[in-house]
Parts: sequence; C-alpha cells; structure tokens
Amino acid sequence: MAITRETTKPEFEVDVAIVGGGACGLCAALAATEAGASVLVLERDRRPTGSTALSTGLIPAAGTRLQRDEGIEDDAETFAQDILGKAKGRTDAAMARRIAAGSGPTIDWLQQRHGLAFRLVKGFLYPGHSRLRMHGVPNRTGTELQDALLAAAGRAGIDILTEARVADLNADADGRITALGFERSDGRRERVGTRAVILACNGFGGAPDLLARHIPEMVGAEYFGHAGNTGDALIWGEELGAATADLGAYQGHGAVAVPYGRPMVWALITEGGFQVNRAGERFSNEASGYSEQAVEVIAQPGREAFEIFDSLREAPALDFADYREVLGLGGVKQAGTLAELAGLLGLPLAALERTAREVDEMRSGLRPDPWGRDFRGTAPLAPPYRGVRVTGALFHTQGGLAVDADARVLRSTGAAFPNLFAGGGAARGVSGPSRWGYLSGNGLLTATVLGRLAGSAAAAVAAAARARSTADV
Ligand SMILES: Cc1cc2nc3c(=O)[nH]c(=O)nc-3n(C[C@H](O)[C@H](O)[C@H](O)COP(=O)(O)OP(=O)(O)OC[C@H]3O[C@@H](n4cnc5c(N)ncnc54)[C@H](O)[C@@H]3O)c2cc1C
Repeated sequence: MAITRETTKPEFEVDVAIVGGGACGLCAALAATEAGASVLVLERDRRPTGSTALSTGLIPAAGTRLQRDEGIEDDAETFAQDILGKAKGRTDAAMARRIAAGSGPTIDWLQQRHGLAFRLVKGFLYPGHSRLRMHGVPNRTGTELQDALLAAAGRAGIDILTEARVADLNADADGRITALGFERSDGRRERVGTRAVILACNGFGGAPDLLARHIPEMVGAEYFGHAGNTGDALIWGEELGAATADLGAYQGHGAVAVPYGRPMVWALITEGGFQVNRAGERFSNEASGYSEQAVEVIAQPGREAFEIFDSLREAPALDFADYREVLGLGGVKQAGTLAELAGLLGLPLAALERTAREVDEMRSGLRPDPWGRDFRGTAPLAPPYRGVRVTGALFHTQGGLAVDADARVLRSTGAAFPNLFAGGGAARGVSGPSRWGYLSGNGLLTATVLGRLAGSAAAAVAAAARARSTADV
C-alpha cells in the first residue's frame, strides 16, 4: 500500500479510474461516463457490495420531485441547517451547503435518468431532520440499492474490474496520479494508466490499528460495515501530504439486534420506546440519536441493552426488511403483559415495571427525565408489548480526506491536487468531529452527492489532459 514513482507507461489507460464499487464509486462512474469520459471501476471483491449493500439504503435529500409530489416543502438551506444543527456547527458549513444543494438533484438524477425506484419514507421524522426527506428503494435495503446502482452502471456500459485490489498510486513530482497498481486474486500485479482518480474506497472501519489511533472508544465494538474498508484512501492521502479532518467522527448504531446483526429502525425509540440494561433500568437519553447511543449501550453490562416498545410503535417499522427479518426469526419478543415480556427478555420484572411507570410520568410531564429526554407528546406503551435485545456497533467512519466543492482532494497547504478526487467514506463527512454529529443518512448522502460531483469534475480534468496531450503530439 504505497505511493510510488514508477514512470513506465502502463499497457492500457483510461480517463477516470475509480477505486471502489459502492454507492460513491458507482455514482462517480455514472456521472463521469455521462460527461464523456472512459471509466474503469476497480473493486477488490468478487462482487461489488461495500458497506452500501449492508446499509438500510436510505438517502436524505431536499427539494426532490418525490417530496413535491407529497406536498412537502423543503429546500437545501433547511437541510443544511439540520446538518449543521446535528453537528453543532462543528463541520465545514460551505461543504454542508454544497452537499445539501446537490442532494435533491442527485436523487432526481438517479431516479429519472438511471431508473432507481426511490420512495419517500413517510410516517416519522428521523432525529434531527425537520422534514420528511429520506429516500429509499422499495424494500429499504442496501442490497437493493447497490443492485439498482450496478444495474444502472451495466446499462451505461461502465467497466467494473472485480477482484482488483488497488495497492499503489503512481504519482509524479507535482502530486499528479498517473497510474494505479492493483493486485488480482491470484497475486498477479497489473497497472492502469489514468488521467484522473476518484477514491471511493470508504473509510477505516475495517482497520483495527487506524481505529485504535483515531476512534479508541469504539475499539472492541462490533463493526457492521464492510470488512474490506481498511483505510486505503487515508493511508495514500497521508503519504501524499493531503489534508485530513474529523478522523474521530463515525456513525455508530445503538440498536443492532443480537444475534441477528440488523439495525432496528430508530422510530421505535423516537416515537416513544426506550432502552433498559440488564437491571431493567434506563441509562441514557436514547432519543439523542442512534449514532451516539452506540457507546452508551456498549458501556452497559454484557455490552447489551433491551429495546422496549409496543405494537403501535412497531407499525412503521414493519415497512423495513431488516425489522421484518428479525421479527420473522423470533428476535422481537411479543407479550401481552410487561411481566411476560420481562420473562421473555430475562429482565427483572419489578425494575422494568418501575422504569415503564416512570417513563409514563415523564410522558405526562409529571417528572423530568434524569437523562434529559423529553417524552412529552408520546403515548404510554400499551399491550401487546414488544422487546428486542440489542448491542451498540460501529457502522462506518466519517472522517477522511479534506475535499473542495468539486470533491478534489486538498493538500495540507489548502491547494487541490491536480487530478485526485474523493467521496463517500473516503472523504471528510459533514458530521463534525465525533460520534454525536451524525445526522441520519449522512453516509449515503456524501457517497452519492460527492460521488456524482467527483465524477463530473474528474471527467473535465481528464478531457483537459487529453486535449493537452493531443496538442503536444
Ligand atoms: C448496517 C449499516 C447501515 C447503514 N445504513 C445507512 C443508511 O440507511 N443511510 C446512510 O446514509 N448510510 C448508512 N450506512 C452507511 C453507508 O453504508 C455508507 O456511508 C456508504 O455505503 C458509503 O459508501 P461508499 O461508496 O463510500 O463505500 P462502500 O459502499 O463501502 O464501497 C467501498 C468499496 O471500496 C472497495 N475497496 C476498498 N478498498 C479498496 C481497494 N484498495 N481497491 C479496490 N477496492 C477497494 C470495497 O470493497 C467496497 O466495495 C450504513 C452502514 C451500515 C454498516
């Protein structure tokens, strides 16, 4: 894994080489191809899946056609304010605005031009979002989203080379990337020449050494992202002298069903459910956000918690394949009384009853929540009850290479590299420096929007380079 100074010309050359075939890489490939570039996506796996296929596949976007059809008034500035609010203002405000502005057009583009069958998620707001703006494919799974993107890439005639792990970037003295070296599954090494490079190989969730350095609080937590995301973009960037930012930022999740490994939709909490530990006691303000809840849960005995809700709160969750899967496998316990639920979950009944009673008093404003959550306006839980055992997990890292408004990677001096781009988990996100700034959907938001911006800009850089080399002949 290195930056090399190799000068021999590779046998073949493309305009734009893209490292990684997840949502970012595929959006970049679609945009670059549309702009007339020849494109090659290099993907280490036999089949491109990435964290994108593991995700719930929901992408927030403002001002989309789907929102307008539902009469929802939303715009880029409102969305940018929500992003900045969740990140407590501690992110790059100009980038947050740029990405929010690109979100609606990107979803419309994927839907109308590339046939992705998006639907708007209705019925509840994700924490921190002031409008209904989550867009997902019909079953709300990342696999379905990734398959739809791969199908679009196939229709666009994009070449995806699988089992091709990029190992080296060849850079000249100006920091211009001239070729990529990659390794095939049988160990063979090959090279491809390129006029522009897009790093779409996500962050470092799969690299324990980088996690220990940058996010020590999540060392030992289960990682539910793609194992092949081992921080290659960060390693290359640091060697090249790129600027990095917010390396302590990440998307955690405080309710991954055990042992099913599926995230429970957060509406179970925001609509009035709560979490208890093995002692039947609440331990945090669960409604702050699912990302920051991960560390709270793994700090509990057995690194586990129990999500307590009822059939009323369950209704919107039934639209989610992940929830239905856990339900079908018996992971969601169903009970007519709290006593029965306590028995099924192995919780002390007296403590669970006391907690439920106290929460009901908080709902009616009779007592404040010691953890600071406002339960007012939520209905008391009523039979039939539901409960599920969960743990806290790391989903993906949010810090990375600093990029400009066209997704060009920046040097530590602030100037852009001539032909290097990054998006998705490879680039710095808009979630601030830590665990608490992640607004739902920030991951696929930057994967799709920065991917599209990078693809268009990289195609323009490649076209200019091609024109220069033709003029030189
Ligand atoms: C369980 C879960 C649920 C989630 N739910 C959501 C959600 O609902 N909404 C949301 O916005 N985000 C969600 N996320 C986060 C989201 O999945 C990511 O932010 C997003 O998929 C990142 O896209 P990407 O293209 O940057 O990376 P990926 O999709 O991970 O793609 C990166 C690709 O690069 C490849 N690669 C890595 N290194 C190399 C190399 N050296 N050479 C060649 N290929 C390489 C990998 O194999 C991989 O295929 C979730 C994540 C998880 C784990």
